[in-house]
Amino acid sequence: MALDLLKRAWSDPDLAAYRDAAARFIEAEMLPQDEAARHRGHVGHALWRRCGELGFLCADIPEQYGGAGGDFRHEAVFYEEMARRALTGLGASVHTIVAHYLLNHGTEAQKARWLPRMVSGQLVGAIAMTEPGAGSDLQAIRTRAERGERGGEPGYRINGSKTFITNGFLAGLVLVVARTSATPGAKGTSILVVETDACAGFRVGRVLDKIGMKAQDTSELFFDDVFVPEDHLLGGREGQGFYQLMSDLPYERLIIGVLALAAMEGAYAQTLAYVQERQAFGAPLAALQHTRFKLAEVATTLRVGRSFIDDCVQQLVAGTLDTATASMAKLWASEAQGRVIDDCLQMFGGYGYMNEYPIARMFSDARVQRIYGGASEIMKEVIARSL
Ligand SMILES: Cc1cc2nc3c(=O)[nH]c(=O)nc-3n(C[C@H](O)[C@H](O)[C@H](O)COP(=O)(O)OP(=O)(O)OC[C@H]3O[C@@H](n4cnc5c(N)ncnc54)[C@H](O)[C@@H]3O)c2cc1C
Repeated sequence: MALDLLKRAWSDPDLAAYRDAAARFIEAEMLPQDEAARHRGHVGHALWRRCGELGFLCADIPEQYGGAGGDFRHEAVFYEEMARRALTGLGASVHTIVAHYLLNHGTEAQKARWLPRMVSGQLVGAIAMTEPGAGSDLQAIRTRAERGERGGEPGYRINGSKTFITNGFLAGLVLVVARTSATPGAKGTSILVVETDACAGFRVGRVLDKIGMKAQDTSELFFDDVFVPEDHLLGGREGQGFYQLMSDLPYERLIIGVLALAAMEGAYAQTLAYVQERQAFGAPLAALQHTRFKLAEVATTLRVGRSFIDDCVQQLVAGTLDTATASMAKLWASEAQGRVIDDCLQMFGGYGYMNEYPIARMFSDARVQRIYGGASEIMKEVIARSL
C-alpha cells in the first residue's frame, strides 16, 4: 500500500475542500512570489491582506470576532500546504498564536478591537518575548513597563529591546512581554499590546540575516519610552504574563510539530519523484538498494509520525492536549525533520545543495525548528518533569 500523504485521521469532506482551496491559492499566488520575498526578506503587506480576504488567516477564531469559526484543523491545513511546498515566509502561525492570546486572555473590548483586523490581515501580529540577554530563561527578561501617564491618561511606559521576533518588520500589533513590577520571577511579568503604526518610541531594527526562512521577517524591536494606555494590558490585570504564556503552549508547540511533519512529507514526495527520474550507472537511482532502503526508512518515519501528530491534533481540538505531550510532538517532529530532510537532500546529490531546488530550502529552513518555540533541550526538561 502506497503512502497516502494527504490522509488525516481528523479530516472530513469539508476540510478536504478547504485543503484544495488552500493548495490552489498557494500554487497560484504564493509560490510565484516566494523568490522575490526571499530576496526582500519579507512577504509584504499585500499578501497578508490577500490571505485575510480569502479567509486563510485565523481560521479558528470565532465568527463574532470576524473569524471563520473553524478549529485547529483548518489552521493545520493551511500550514501543511505551505510547509510541504517549502514556503516559510508568511508567519501565519505566529500571527494566529497572537490572535489566540487575545482570544483566550484579552478583555471583551480587546478582542473586539483587535481580532477583526488580525483576521483581515490589516494588522500582522508578533509576539516579543526574547531579548538579547534572555531566551530559554524568559524569567530573566529586562524590558520594563512602568505605570505612567500621557496628557493625564493613565497607562504604561515601555523600555527595552527584543530580538529574533517573527513578523517583526511587518507587524502592526506586537504583544510585548515585560516586567510590570520588581517582584522577581514569573509574578512580575505582564503582556502589553503595542500598535506599531505611528507609535512614538517604537523602532524596528534590522531584518535579521538568517541561514534559512529567508522570506520571513525576523527582526529586532526597540522600545524607547513607548506609551500605551492602561487598556493595552492583556486581560487587564498585571502579573499574569507568565501564566498567559504557559497556558497557550500546547497550541504553539503542536503547530511546530504539524509544520515539521508536513515539511518531511513534502521532502519525501519530491525525493521519490527525483530518484525515479535521475539515472546513474544505467538505471534510476530508485533502483539502488541503498536508495530504496533510505526511502523505506523515511516512509516508516512519516507513517509513525502521522499517527502521533494526528492524535495530538484530535486531542487539541477536544481540549485535552497537555503541555508535555505537545512538547513531545515538537521535540520528536522537529528532530525527525532534521534527519529526514538531510537524508532526502543526500539523494539529490549536488542538486540538493542548490537553492533553486526546494529540498535545499527545506534543509536550511528546518534547522530552526529545533531552536525556536522552546529549544529541544527545554522540551526534554518539560517532558521529564511530567514523568
Ligand atoms: C528564526 C527565529 C524566529 C524566532 N521567533 C521568535 C518570536 O517570534 N518571538 C520571540 O520571542 N522569540 C523568537 N525567537 C527566539 C527563540 O524562541 C529563542 O532563540 C529560543 O527560545 C532560544 O533562546 P536563545 O536563542 O536565547 O538561546 P539560549 O536560551 O541562550 O540557549 C542556548 C542553548 O542552551 C540550551 N539551554 C538553555 N537552557 C537550558 C537548560 N535549562 N537545559 C539545557 N539546555 C539549555 C538551549 O537549548 C540552547 O541549545 C526566534 C528565534 C529564531 C531563530
